[in-house]
Amino acid sequence: MTAEILAVGTELLMGQISNTNAQYLSKRLNDLGINVYFHSVVGDNAARLKESLKTALGRSDMVITTGGLGPTQDDLTKETIAETMGLKLVQNEEIYQGIKNFFERINRQMLENNIKQAYIPEGAMVIPNNNGTAPGCIIEKDGKTVVMLPGPPKEMVPMFEETVFPYLEKRTGQTIGSKMLKVFGIGESEMEMKIIDIIGAQSNPTIAPYVNMGEVTVRVTARCRDADEAERMINPVIEKIRERLGTCLYSVNGESLEEVVVKLIIEKNISISVAESCTGGMLASKLVNVPGVSKVFSQGFITYSNDAKIDLLGVSPETLKTFGAVSRKTAMEMLRGLIRRTGTRAGIAITGIAGPDNAADPVPCGPAICTGHSRKSGKPAGLVYIAVYLDGKTECVELMLNGDRERVRHMSCLNALNILRKMILSTEEK
Ligand code: ATP
Repeated sequence: MTAEILAVGTELLMGQISNTNAQYLSKRLNDLGINVYFHSVVGDNAARLKESLKTALGRSDMVITTGGLGPTQDDLTKETIAETMGLKLVQNEEIYQGIKNFFERINRQMLENNIKQAYIPEGAMVIPNNNGTAPGCIIEKDGKTVVMLPGPPKEMVPMFEETVFPYLEKRTGQTIGSKMLKVFGIGESEMEMKIIDIIGAQSNPTIAPYVNMGEVTVRVTARCRDADEAERMINPVIEKIRERLGTCLYSVNGESLEEVVVKLIIEKNISISVAESCTGGMLASKLVNVPGVSKVFSQGFITYSNDAKIDLLGVSPETLKTFGAVSRKTAMEMLRGLIRRTGTRAGIAITGIAGPDNAADPVPCGPAICTGHSRKSGKPAGLVYIAVYLDGKTECVELMLNGDRERVRHMSCLNALNILRKMILSTEEK
């Protein structure tokens, strides 16, 4: 299969940004054994984009475009490609709902031109975008394939790795073996620093790190003769990475953190219950997403209001008055009340400020968590306390999480699961 990359954006032509997307895609297509013969760049101009696309489709089996998928007038990639390929744009209900939810989450009004992003060429396959609003798509027509991805690398890379890569893996005649390593508790740049020499020394298998919804992932890919050879090539690389990342590496098979934690608690027969404030049931929902969890998951309490924390978990009104609902003391009392009520071997309590506004919590926070934020304005959005119990031991952490409401809630759940995972692993070591 031959491919070429067509980057769309006047900023690229004017030298304001470098075409790092083309470099990334070329490297990854090469890992898949797909020959890339041309790179081109075209500005935000429908006539010239049409001309470039026609040329590209005339000489390559596949064209991957990046950029121009946003909601504004000059984002015209999708419309122009659909027109060039003789396809109508149709509204996709799933994308429409996704964009609507995105705006609800960040508490902003969805504008008319955002609806434009819910349209895709008829018959196209959707490439979901977890890190922005512009979805991508794949069109197959008359023996040619066009893949459209957005411009921002933080969106483009995870979309390529999670949807386009597996799609191409299936389509290439080559045997490709790949494993997805999942990492938590270390940032992308810190992780890259730790394994940069391993990445640099490898050409087959290759190692590609990226971030999706705050989770660091590393894909290890081998070009090989068969599945056995892939295992033989990939496993030693994984072991080298594991030596560097330790318990931050939680899966080598692309499992989610909740899958890994549920597997662990089922294996060890650890019963669990949860008490949630700012996550509003998200943690229970993540646990329940994993089949088999009924063997260990007892119950969850959504204690959003102060009254619920007092009535259901026995949090003291004095604690709420003195320290506030979002405090270490409240998290600990929620946890104590939870374990008293449920008697499970493990328990998690979460209280925090999902944002986007800072809390109306009347109690100012201590100086340690108030850096750069006025004590008078209450506690900052993203401040979260997580208390975890396991067989008589308790841990409580304070976190300052970045991002919108959805991300703060999501990251609170992942951090909570990771604390429990590490507590279980550390009891194993003893
Ligand atoms: P958005 O929804 O953010 O508008 P888009 O698909 O319309 O996404 P563009 O508007 O074309 O993308 O580009 C948005 C940003 O993405 C650019 O300002 C730049 O920072 C980055 N970007 C775009 N194209 C590239 C590229 N080829 N290489 C690296 N970065 C790029």
